[in-house]
Amino acid sequence: TVTMSWGYAANNGPDKWADNFPIANGPRQSPIDIIPGEASFDGGLKPLSLKYDPSTCLDILNNGHSFQVTFADDTNSSTLTDGPISGIYRLKQFHFHWGASDDKGSEHTVAGTKYPAELHLVHWNTKYPSFGEAASQPDGLAVVGVFLQIGDHNPSLQKVLDAFGAIKAKGKQTSFPGFDPATLLPACLDYWTYDGSLTTPPLLESVTWIVCKQPITLTSEQMAKFRCLLFSAEGEAECCMVDNYRPPQPLKGRSVRASFK
Ligand SMILES: [Zn+2]
Repeated sequence: TVTMSWGYAANNGPDKWADNFPIANGPRQSPIDIIPGEASFDGGLKPLSLKYDPSTCLDILNNGHSFQVTFADDTNSSTLTDGPISGIYRLKQFHFHWGASDDKGSEHTVAGTKYPAELHLVHWNTKYPSFGEAASQPDGLAVVGVFLQIGDHNPSLQKVLDAFGAIKAKGKQTSFPGFDPATLLPACLDYWTYDGSLTTPPLLESVTWIVCKQPITLTSEQMAKFRCLLFSAEGEAECCMVDNYRPPQPLKGRSVRASFK
């Protein structure tokens, strides 16, 4: 029998992922609803240190679930250190999750509040030999999550949106040199952190989540551009890439720590 691949539709979406990926019901799944009043301030949490070299930015790809911008990760040129983690984590890629309308789309929520989109900057722990090997280790990955909210025009994000014409359909890719992902970060790097998972299959429980308190902004017109991408490949029936987010999962006794009071 042919197994249907995972997606975000009723017949292959988050409610069905456990059929093929039983860890979907595991003890440290992501995303979660972050309740600020229940997060504990931890004065031992260091500020995040994000050092990104724009020359490591390689290309932009529609992978049929989201789009991602990929970075060369053969040296420690673009790294995340400090914060809640120890050692050096290398940037592998960033991608987004978003909704069909501005009232939903983020994966994490804050006291139930949904943002229209969420940026994920994915890093892997260099104590392991590669991203692939790190991805199954409990301390293998660190993902920085940044909420997007409707507000001022975002010129840095516009550079990303301007590449969408070349990656409309699943499987399309184009070079995207020289982009500095630091330009997508909020001014304030206060964060919440907790132990979680990938939010897409295989849902591996390998992610130290670092979710920034301060959203970045974009206009509603910019947000609308995301929804012109397609889940479908060229030649298939067109299916707009929207609502590519997993809803919050049970906390199951985990602690959420805050870097700020
Ligand atoms: Zn993600």
